[in-house]
Amino acid sequence: MSPADTPADIDGSHPAARESLVVPAAGSRAPATERCPGCGAVLVVVPGLTSSAAGASPSCSGLFDVTVRGLRDEAAADVQTAGLLQLATDAYAAQHLQPGHPATPAARLCLWVARGLDPLRGAEIAGRLDEAAPRGLSAPQRWTTTVADVAADLDVVDLPSLVRSWAGAVWADWSPAQDELRAAADAALGTRP
Ligand SMILES: [Zn+2]
Repeated sequence: MSPADTPADIDGSHPAARESLVVPAAGSRAPATERCPGCGAVLVVVPGLTSSAAGASPSCSGLFDVTVRGLRDEAAADVQTAGLLQLATDAYAAQHLQPGHPATPAARLCLWVARGLDPLRGAEIAGRLDEAAPRGLSAPQRWTTTVADVAADLDVVDLPSLVRSWAGAVWADWSPAQDELRAAADAALGTRP
């Protein structure tokens, strides 16, 4: 296959996503792209694809679905995979908060990343965290890592490592609001005086 025949990735998307995000071969009209309103990833518009995640472009939420499909398939049978899926889900959601909604996913990331809590314990504190999570926070304007970066690196780095570093990066990007998020996380844990 000559390079001209090889589908190129937009933003280096992972091959697994190429079924829906392929860029036509050289010579074709440039495909339409869209910028995700949440994480800012610029991806090819996929006709007919609708977003399954509020606050995300259809192609971005589609790429997330493709990227974590394997985790979803295995999560029921493997607790480590289930924890990893939870971490990925919260990292993604913390980048796609809708304005005015509680920043629960970002507070959850605080628990997993900064407090070292097992993501599988999310269910038992979900109610308290929803109550404590701050509303009206300004989301970061720039993200160090998006799902497009994660998907692009899957060829060379294993998914668990990518998800952990992605979650850490998203938590770090939230640094202007980390005090409020920590307070909410600690209130949910019951560790605040
Ligand atoms: Zn996005």
